[in-house]
Amino acid sequence: MICPKRTSELLDLHLAPFKDKDPAWEIGVSRIAGRGVMATRSLKRGEIIFRDSPLLIGLAANEEDALNSCSVCLVVLPDTKFMCRQGCGLPVCSLCSKKKQHKVDCDMFKSWGPNEPDVANSVIIRLLCVARAINLTKEQRDLIYCLQANLDNNHRTEVRNAAKCFKRFPTDKKIVEIMNRTVAVLRTNGFDKTYDRSNDNQEFNYRALYPLFGVVNHDCIPNAYYTFEEKTNNMIVRAAVDIPEGFEITTTYTKLFTGNIARHLFLKMKKGFTCKCSRCSDPTEKGAFISGLYCRDTNCTGLVVPEITGLPHPNYNCLECKQKSTHAQMMKSQDFASGAINAKANSNSLRTLVQYLNEKSDAFIPSSNYVVIEAKFGVLQRLQQGREDCSEELAANTRLRYSRDITQVMDKLGLGDSLLRTQLVQTLQREEERRAKRLAEEAEKQRKMAELQAKAAEADKILAAFEAEQAAEAAAAAASLPAADPAPLPQAATELA
Ligand SMILES: [Zn+2]
Ligand SMILES: [Zn+2]
Ligand SMILES: [Zn+2]
Ligand SMILES: [Zn+2]
Repeated sequence: MICPKRTSELLDLHLAPFKDKDPAWEIGVSRIAGRGVMATRSLKRGEIIFRDSPLLIGLAANEEDALNSCSVCLVVLPDTKFMCRQGCGLPVCSLCSKKKQHKVDCDMFKSWGPNEPDVANSVIIRLLCVARAINLTKEQRDLIYCLQANLDNNHRTEVRNAAKCFKRFPTDKKIVEIMNRTVAVLRTNGFDKTYDRSNDNQEFNYRALYPLFGVVNHDCIPNAYYTFEEKTNNMIVRAAVDIPEGFEITTTYTKLFTGNIARHLFLKMKKGFTCKCSRCSDPTEKGAFISGLYCRDTNCTGLVVPEITGLPHPNYNCLECKQKSTHAQMMKSQDFASGAINAKANSNSLRTLVQYLNEKSDAFIPSSNYVVIEAKFGVLQRLQQGREDCSEELAANTRLRYSRDITQVMDKLGLGDSLLRTQLVQTLQREEERRAKRLAEEAEKQRKMAELQAKAAEADKILAAFEAEQAAEAAAAAASLPAADPAPLPQAATELA
């Protein structure tokens, strides 16, 4: 373990620009793993715990990305003539081309001689975030070395591949080692558009290292969440729940709504540890049943959950009839459900998917299962873009229902605040307001209608009274007239007489 004291000193230097004289955190020995970030005082839900600024940040520049963003300010540029005219092989805006940061980057890459300096190359652009470590101060570099790094067989691949894009790529072992180490630290602790650290519906398009956040350990029910400041890309970490003094600050490295088994596998493979948090130790996941399936016995209405074994293929137990099933048996049900729901999700009709989730899927998969939750997320996201083939009413009802469903799962899991919850609550509020407005409009319509009807009835009454009056008058007039001559007798009668 790297000394917590040294890490603290280096972090203090890094965070000096924020001038936080009385920080709410300190680096200490963690119960979860190695070092961690501890609360030095009790924190209220929503309170800022710390800010962090990126020690390294750059474009993620994945192969499929458009590469026309400035390598300094990261702003998207017009898609022609965005490359630096000095021949460094980096995209840069005219303003940033005169800045010190680009001068440093430009001199470095020019000296390495990019093979095709005028062509945007994702490998070169992606490497910049890593290569910038070479020009950091000694303390800043030490801070990188203080952070956890998964030094597996693959961590040298990126630099090795990048070397092929330059004519004079550095061969100095120390420089290559700094870059390889930085790659490993970024992969273990950094943010990257490619690696899904963005588990909270966060959009983060860059590759970056936030050193203090890098020390924050994982819990599947994190007590903190982060957001980014748009202009500075600084990170703000807040308390997701009330945190007592001395408690460790935690975040999540996985998606919030994957089941125990999937999270276990992800953390083991990508992060190299086994999580022992309260959620991972509970087969029901706090009663949220994210990996719950129906019992194979069709006469049993119980839910089946995986045993807690820390194995990738655990057995399952029915909570009702106690029947045991193998992992393979239950995976059949899960795979069937996932296949059926994903097929509907991939078909073009959003309305069909919504109807399927509302009316059909419950017959073969519990609505608590992650595949249903994920599908509902997908629906909410699609509805954000537009309502596709859903009627306005279906879209509104779906937004309301699914946001409510998902927040209820979050409540069951004991998840506090997060960006995701904020988004869901906003959707709920908007829909409830819209619904209230609709109801009010409807009531107003009804009121107006009643008013009109009352008026019409009143008019009818007046008319009837008027007609009655007229009839009476006519009758009175008739009565006052002299009696008319008797009618002449019919001809036949006259003849008879
Ligand atoms: Zn720029
Ligand atoms: Zn340049
Ligand atoms: Zn866990
Ligand atoms: Zn059963």
